[in-house]
Amino acid sequence: MRLHGSCRCKAVRFSLRSTTPYPYMRCYCSVCRKTAGGGGYAINIMGQAESLEVEGGEHIAIWRASADQTDEGGPGLSPARRHFCSRCASALWVSDPRWPELLHPFASAIDTALPKPPETVHIMLDFAAPWVEVPRGANHRHFRRYPDESIADWHKRHRLDGGKPAKAGRRRKKSKS
Ligand SMILES: [Zn+2]
Repeated sequence: MRLHGSCRCKAVRFSLRSTTPYPYMRCYCSVCRKTAGGGGYAINIMGQAESLEVEGGEHIAIWRASADQTDEGGPGLSPARRHFCSRCASALWVSDPRWPELLHPFASAIDTALPKPPETVHIMLDFAAPWVEVPRGANHRHFRRYPDESIADWHKRHRLDGGKPAKAGRRRKKSKS
């Protein structure tokens, strides 16, 4: 599906294609909480970077969080680029040069009606604020740090990746769909 998004002041509008639009993963890390997660967490979904179209790109600012441990070893800047509106401060999307074909929009910036996820995954709970009530019970999975499956694999397991039945061994298509 094609997702349309915008910042709150509408200086920035964007759209991109996504086969993984379910906003099922809540991240409670301090970066997400402070920059985009007033409820204690932020939700990123995933789309295809090459399909991104932007209006008002001149209003976009980019922030890289400091990280204790980078791929190069030791402290430095996170490779993740957090794009936000420099006028109204809305979080827009995260990109990462390690995965240049992907883009991770914040569900909060998407105007298209997203589908309701059948299951919610709570991640980075080691960093959750003490006041956050994390939902428990059926249809909730919990991880202290990173989850055990990718956004694409979650959609596959729930058979939500374009309606095709989940199968082991991902079919790789050369053409972009
Ligand atoms: Zn704005």
